[in-house]
Amino acid sequence: MKDKSVSQEMSIPDLKILIKKLRGYGVGFIKIFGGEPTLHSKLEEVIRLCLANFSYIQLFTNGIFSKEVKELLIKYCARIRFTFNMLTPMVLYNKKIRNEFIQQALFFSRQTKITLSFTLLQTFDIANIVNMFAEVIPHAYEVRIGASNPLKGGINYYTTGQYRSLGSKVMEFIHAIRMKNNKLNVFLDCGYVRCMFSNSQVDELTRLGANKESWGCPVGTFDIQTNLKAISCYPLSNDKVVDIKKKDYWSKLIFHQLSLQKEHLPSMCKTCPHHGYEKDKCTGPCIAFGMNLKERAPGQALGNSIH
Ligand code: SF4
Repeated sequence: MKDKSVSQEMSIPDLKILIKKLRGYGVGFIKIFGGEPTLHSKLEEVIRLCLANFSYIQLFTNGIFSKEVKELLIKYCARIRFTFNMLTPMVLYNKKIRNEFIQQALFFSRQTKITLSFTLLQTFDIANIVNMFAEVIPHAYEVRIGASNPLKGGINYYTTGQYRSLGSKVMEFIHAIRMKNNKLNVFLDCGYVRCMFSNSQVDELTRLGANKESWGCPVGTFDIQTNLKAISCYPLSNDKVVDIKKKDYWSKLIFHQLSLQKEHLPSMCKTCPHHGYEKDKCTGPCIAFGMNLKERAPGQALGNSIH
């Protein structure tokens, strides 16, 4: 959490307000992110409240649990699905912690559905990573592949000129993990755009059920912070926040998101036949990526363009 004024954990009264709002929208399940949500001081109360109101919890976690937390999660795990963040520094660089992490993930894979979440970088050593997690990949239900989206005002980790090589890296990764588990569902996050992939790669992603309804940044979704303020997404966490207790907060967020998308749409998207908001279309890159993008002046060659 970047903003130090935002509390580390959501209070139980605020959680009750949030649940009431979400139920009003007919939301079927709830996703809980952190930081690390299993560190909440009233974790059992949080779980019980959520399970009393939703069919299941999707819990995003680093997979490092104390004995007490593990016992608590076991108690409710029939209705908790885990998304394990696979590439935290402690898991990557500490063999003892990595082995414990793998055993936790294996344990919960026998009780419920587990998703393995990988954020891909250009420097990602696919063989090494797949080898590192070879024991758990065959037991996962799904793999979530994230792009490393930047924070607004930060640096982009790749250029538009590297889009195709990033897409190829994703395909190579999918092939490698499906060699270990050919039933694995694949999910690409909102950082992936249509032009990262060739037509044949898009066809393959479609066959695998990996490409979503549309590419890029989905309109109308948002994250809610511990203080009940909504933000469009994590990369815009230092941008506009809207109090979800206010009546028209959702339309305000959507309007803000669409305005930013329009204002910061890279020039290559303006003439792209794939651009749009309908099914199978592409809204353009992560908004923060577009904001941080340094484009050449008109008339100069776009060194980072794919066209
Ligand atoms: S809209 Fe932009 S990001 Fe999406 S496919 Fe077209 S050029 Fe690529």
